[in-house]
Amino acid sequence: MAPTGHMRAVMNGTNKLVNSQPPDFIKCFAKDCNNSATVMCSSCTIAMYCSLKCQYEDWYNNHIKHCERMQKNK
Ligand SMILES: [Zn+2]
Ligand SMILES: [Zn+2]
Repeated sequence: MAPTGHMRAVMNGTNKLVNSQPPDFIKCFAKDCNNSATVMCSSCTIAMYCSLKCQYEDWYNNHIKHCERMQKNK
C-alpha cells in the first residue's frame, strides 16, 4: 500500500483566511489575579495588569525587580 507520491495540488481560490479577532486575552500579571489585563506598566511596557490597583501591588511585590532593570537599560 504505497501511496502514490503524485498528487496534483489544485488551487481553487477558496482558501480564504478568516481574519477574526485574535485571542489576545492577556492575563493580569498579578499572581493571584485572573482578570484580563488592560493596564500596561508605563515604565517597561511589558507587564500588564487588569487595574492600577493590581499594577501597584504587584509592582512593589514582584515586578519592581524586573522593571528597574529595564529602566537602567536606558
Ligand atoms: Zn489583576
Ligand atoms: Zn515595568
